[in-house]
Amino acid sequence: MRVLVTGGAGYVGSTTVETLHEAGHQVVVLDDLSTGHREAVIDGVELEVGSYGDAGTLARVLDHHKIEAVLHCAAKSLVGESMVDPAMYYRENVGGGVVLLEGMRLAGVGRIVFSSTASVYGIPDHTPVTEEMPLAPINTYGETKRTFEQGMRWYGNAYGLRSVIFRYFNVAGATKRNGEAHSPETHLIPNVLRAAENDTEMTIFGDDFATPDGTCVRDYIHVLDLAQAHLLALEATDPGDVRTGPAGGPCEPVICNLGTSKGFSNREVVAVAERVVGHAIKHRIGPRRAGDPAVLIASSARAGELLGWRAQHETLEEIVGSAWEWRRRGHNGR
Ligand code: UDP
Repeated sequence: MRVLVTGGAGYVGSTTVETLHEAGHQVVVLDDLSTGHREAVIDGVELEVGSYGDAGTLARVLDHHKIEAVLHCAAKSLVGESMVDPAMYYRENVGGGVVLLEGMRLAGVGRIVFSSTASVYGIPDHTPVTEEMPLAPINTYGETKRTFEQGMRWYGNAYGLRSVIFRYFNVAGATKRNGEAHSPETHLIPNVLRAAENDTEMTIFGDDFATPDGTCVRDYIHVLDLAQAHLLALEATDPGDVRTGPAGGPCEPVICNLGTSKGFSNREVVAVAERVVGHAIKHRIGPRRAGDPAVLIASSARAGELLGWRAQHETLEEIVGSAWEWRRRGHNGR
């Protein structure tokens, strides 16, 4: 199938592009390179530099490449930034998202898989988090993702848009070629590995949470497993596939959490990273970071039942190890 991946030069996008390409799909990347990296786009995949939120660019790309399905990974995705500059998040994630949905409708592209986030749940009142739990985002980032999810729903209802929504928990790890290289970097695993690399000190945000060791607990999923789920999801949006609705619609999005249903505390992550790199990593305990729920663990049963997906790289050693290997190879110049 001919797939357009928005944000295909970013972390999740570029690794998923590798999986789609290997599976024999024709992939085109649309990325404005504001946070993505040109060198993350593999050979054999065409890069269109531009924004999905630009109606003219989008219409040209959809038409020129005869796109059949869209994987929408592009987004502004920093929680802290979303709180100080909500305008940018509404403009890009919501405004841009409306342009994308409209562009697809006008071009007759009726299949989409969307990268959403566990942030749509806010602070869940219990874990593991199931997809039916109420959506109550506590930051602008999560709110803008929820808004796009709702748009997909109504487009499915009225226009038969076939869709899968993935709510990511904590994505980590690397392929041989692509890994996580954000600037600024806010995520735990890259920050721990950077401290190991540079012999600097990293900070664990808070140790007074209601968890066994007092630090927050998260559910880490290997980016390769995430990519595999996207491949299965794109296939499930086939017009003949009842999982995403009856032929001709109306269609409801298939919504799946993506995690491994296992939790690791921030201290455990540091300990695993120390084993992986083979030496102690300097760290201190700092104050809590605003808006961090104590525990976020996914129920990932639905992705298994509906898509036949199963995480293959479940150990934290494997996840952190792949990220470390990628860094040691020089981050591909990033
Ligand atoms: N965290 C930390 N130090 C860092 C970065 C993150 O202690 O330098 C903590 C953060 O407070 C949270 C966990 O690590 O408890 C995971 O944070 P991350 O930003 O990686 O993902 P999130 O769960 O916020 O999506």
